[in-house]
Amino acid sequence: MSIVTIERRVLEKNDRVAERNRSLLLERGIFAINMVSSPGAGKTALLERTMERLEDRDRTAVIEGDVQTDLDARRVARYGVRVVQVVTRGGCHLDAPLVARALESLDLEGVRLLVIENVGNLVCPANYDLGETLKVVVLSTAEGDDKPLKYPEMFRSAAVLVVNKTDLLPYVDCDMAVLRRHALETNPSLRVFETSCRTGEGIEAWCDWLRTQSAAPA
Ligand code: MG
Ligand code: ZN
Repeated sequence: MSIVTIERRVLEKNDRVAERNRSLLLERGIFAINMVSSPGAGKTALLERTMERLEDRDRTAVIEGDVQTDLDARRVARYGVRVVQVVTRGGCHLDAPLVARALESLDLEGVRLLVIENVGNLVCPANYDLGETLKVVVLSTAEGDDKPLKYPEMFRSAAVLVVNKTDLLPYVDCDMAVLRRHALETNPSLRVFETSCRTGEGIEAWCDWLRTQSAAPA
């Protein structure tokens, strides 16, 4: 019982800070995505392919969440975007206060797009609002087509699903039609993209969507 209470209080505090983050981003007209996935689904690779193509890199900021190391931040920083690394030191998700501190350390002048790469974990990031505009869940084909059924909260809380590593489809146990069906049964309003960071398939469609979203008046 007390565990439930504590958890609720933690989430209430988180949600208050998340609302402050959201107002700050809204005031500045920044479109912010919270990218979630299990470890190794390819969030950072997708970001790299995205940054290669985006024209407005000087108007893009990235918050990299990792349990340990700044390896991903270094990968993304090569593209000339503003990056801040948040190391959670064992923490399995980002929370709104961590993102608030990251936002303070970023120069947000002129930024239109903020990408928050969450810690690789398909469970608790679903419960932690960071103040983002929307959540993007990245799922690799190698994880199989049953993930939306196993982690429904994550797919329900997301607005976009990126199915990554489509180049592996001939070798893995993943039927794209079944995956789409499971995902849309869980959340009928999910927008689905299919990408391969190796072949580049689908990356342009995803980037087009990002361009449209971050150009729209806030
Ligand atoms: Mg990463
Ligand atoms: Zn967690």
